[in-house]
Amino acid sequence: SLNGKTAVITGSNSGIGLGIAWEMARAGANVVLNSFTDNEEDHVLARQIADETGVSARYIKADMSKGAECRALIGQAGDCDILINNAGIQHVAPIDQFPVEKWDAIIAINLNSAFHTTAAALPMMRKAGWGRVVNIASAHGLTASPYKAAYIAAKHGIVGMTKTVALETAEEPITANAICPGYVLTPLVEAQIPDTMKEYDMGREEVIRNVMLARQPSKEFATVEQLGGTAVFLCSDAAAQITGTTISVDGGWTAL
Ligand code: NAD
Repeated sequence: SLNGKTAVITGSNSGIGLGIAWEMARAGANVVLNSFTDNEEDHVLARQIADETGVSARYIKADMSKGAECRALIGQAGDCDILINNAGIQHVAPIDQFPVEKWDAIIAINLNSAFHTTAAALPMMRKAGWGRVVNIASAHGLTASPYKAAYIAAKHGIVGMTKTVALETAEEPITANAICPGYVLTPLVEAQIPDTMKEYDMGREEVIRNVMLARQPSKEFATVEQLGGTAVFLCSDAAAQITGTTISVDGGWTAL
């Protein structure tokens, strides 16, 4: 069990990050939720997790597009045995029409934030004598699709950084791995359906089956609970020698 450990999950008031927070809490870890907002609902999410699982849970506001706030999140958390770099955004456009500010935001939130949080968390893990870094990459960290240049660059980048962190901590009781989900029906995916419908001139159901799940041989979305379970596994003793690698949770996408 992860009793007594603290997991900090970036971008966790929604989707995969929230699902991972729940599974971490069910496994006994205290959790720190995060996003860039500071709404009552954000704190309610933390209270629900604490009430239902008995762990301690807090919500800390920090904007993962800003390096100083990424580092401050880890500082404010106080403990960080498990770091889940999950915050991420998407934008879909051909590269010659890709808005520069979207490129910059995607690289900042999906890639640079993990550099800053990892840099801040590793000294705390070393002091505690145990640590787990779990980066939420993507099938798009291993393969590409059209119209997602920034996202694919950031996700390939985070897979590479994961390997480097693993090598730098290889002789310590710390591991670093990336989980590569295929399509999971979260608000992030929901939001890209309209743009994809435009790019391909298709209806909603057609986009889901023939574009999104076209490369997911299982023809099913992965679930946030499955991703949470995979993250908990990477924190278990059975995974102590798994480091510097990727685990795909993609219904066979990258086997194609
Ligand atoms: P989501 O939109 O539901 O969640 C994204 C989270 O990141 C939210 O909590 C949001 O508040 C947070 N966030 C966004 N900008 C932020 C910022 N500047 N600072 C702090 N937090 C910020 O999306 P999701 O699908 O749950 O995505 C989570 C991660 O999983 C992302 O890194 C995404 O790339 C990755 N992923 C998702 C899928 C999928 O199919 N949904 C597939 C592969 C990888």
